[in-house]
Amino acid sequence: MHLYNALTRQKEEFKPITPGIVSMYHCGPTVYDKAHIGNLRSFVFADILRRVFEYDGFKVKQVMNITDVGHLASDADEGEDKMTAGLKREGLELSLSNMRSLADKYIRLFEEDTAALNIEKPHALPRASDFIPEQVALIKRLEGKGLTYVISDGVYFDTEKYPVYGKLGGIADVDYSRIGVNTEKKNPRDFALWKFNERLGWESPWGKGFPGWHIECSAMSMKHLGETFDIHTGGVDHITVHHNNEIAQSEAATGKPFAKYWLHNEHVLVNGEKMSKSKGNFFTLEDIISRGFSPLAYRYFLLQAHYRTQINFTWEALEASQNALNKLYDIFLSLPISSIGEESSVTRTHFLEALEEDLNTPLALAELWDVVRDRALSDEEKRATILDFDRVLGLGFVEQKREPVPNEVEILAKERENARAQGDFTKADEIRGEVEKLGYIVEDTPTGPRVRKA
Ligand code: AMP
Ligand code: ZN
Repeated sequence: MHLYNALTRQKEEFKPITPGIVSMYHCGPTVYDKAHIGNLRSFVFADILRRVFEYDGFKVKQVMNITDVGHLASDADEGEDKMTAGLKREGLELSLSNMRSLADKYIRLFEEDTAALNIEKPHALPRASDFIPEQVALIKRLEGKGLTYVISDGVYFDTEKYPVYGKLGGIADVDYSRIGVNTEKKNPRDFALWKFNERLGWESPWGKGFPGWHIECSAMSMKHLGETFDIHTGGVDHITVHHNNEIAQSEAATGKPFAKYWLHNEHVLVNGEKMSKSKGNFFTLEDIISRGFSPLAYRYFLLQAHYRTQINFTWEALEASQNALNKLYDIFLSLPISSIGEESSVTRTHFLEALEEDLNTPLALAELWDVVRDRALSDEEKRATILDFDRVLGLGFVEQKREPVPNEVEILAKERENARAQGDFTKADEIRGEVEKLGYIVEDTPTGPRVRKA
C-alpha cells in the first residue's frame, strides 16, 4: 500500500507499527449544526481507507472524534466557540446540559448521514466532553515540562519551546490575524490549551473553562490508540494549524512520534470556492435526498475523483453519477443469482492495485465498469466480482433487490420455453409479445432465458 504522507510530502509505502494491524484516527464532526456534503467527503474518505485495509486483510482500529466542545470559529483561539453559537442560534440557554443535548441532536443527524452514505461506524466515536480529565492531564504534562504559559484568557502552548514546530509545513502562509490578535501571547503561533470561562465550563487546575480544540484530538487519539499510532486524517484545511498543533503538543508531551502517516482529503467546491458554512455556499445530504437523488449517488460522485483532488459539486454532475449508478444496478440485477460464482481473481488484483496506489478510486470504479462489460466473464463471475468490489466501494449492490416477477409472466416464460424446445418459434415469439405487453422482457442467455422488467 502506498499513501501520500503530508509529513514527508511524498508517497510512501505503508508499514504498520504492528504487522497486520492499522490504527487510525480521523478528525470528526463539530456537532453544532448539520454537516454539509463537503464535511461528508472527509468521512467517506476515512471509510474508504478503512475498507481498503480490511479488503487487503488488515485488522483496523478506527477512531473518529466528535467535537462537542471548544471548537472556535475557523482555527481561532478568540471569539465564540461553535457550540455556544449553536445554542444561541437555537434559542437555548447557555448551560453544559443544553450543550450536551444540542450535541446529541447533531450526533444523531451525523449518524443518519453516515449510515445513508454506507459509511461503516468507526470502532470508537469519543466525544470531547467525555474526556475532559484526559485533556487536563495532557495539559498538566506539558506544563510539567515547562512548555505552557498562562495569560488572562487561558493556558497556551509555547511554540518557541518546540523548535520543530510546523512539521506538516505551511506555517509561513498562515494568516495569524485570522486566529485572533492577542497581544498577551508570546508568539502569534502559540495556541490555547485551556480557555477560561466563568459562565460555562469545567473546573481545572487553572480555573473554570473548557479545553482548546486541538488538545481533544491529541488526548482522545492517544487514549484509544496509544502515544504513537499509524494514520491520522482530516481535511486539507486542518494541515497548517490544527494538525501542526496536534503534533507539537503530542510529541512535546510524550517525546515520541505521534501519527506516522498524515492523510488529507481535498475540498468539495461550489462554483470553484470551498463549500463552507461561513460562506453559505453549502448543501446537506437532506438537500440531495429532497431533490430525488440517492445518498449513494453522492458517494459515487466522490469516488470518481481522487481524494487529493478538489471536486466541484454541481447538480448536473450528481445527476450523471445517479444515472451511472442506476445503470450499474440494472446490470447487476439482470445477473442470475441461481448459482454462486467465484470472483475473478485477475480483476480483483487490478482493483486492489488501483486502491493500493494511494486509494485511486477513479481507477477502481473503471475496473468495476470493465467487469460489467467484460464478455469473457460469466454472469456468475460478474455478480460475485461486483459484490466483492462493493466491500470497498460501498455502493449498495448487496441491498439491490430484484422485484419479483408476477406469476402470470413466469408461466408465459415457461410456455415460451416449451414452445422453443419443441421448435415452435412462431408460438415462442407470440408469447414473447404477450410478456412484453405485461411490461417484461425475456432474454435468452447462455445460462437460459431470463425475465426482467422492461
Ligand atoms: P468540522 O465539522 O467543521 O470540524 O469539519 C469536519 C471535517 O470536514 C474536517 O475534516 C474538515 O477538514 C472537513 N471539511 C470542511 N469543509 C470541507 C469541504 N468543503 N470539503 C471537504 N472537506 C471539508
Ligand atoms: Zn482533530
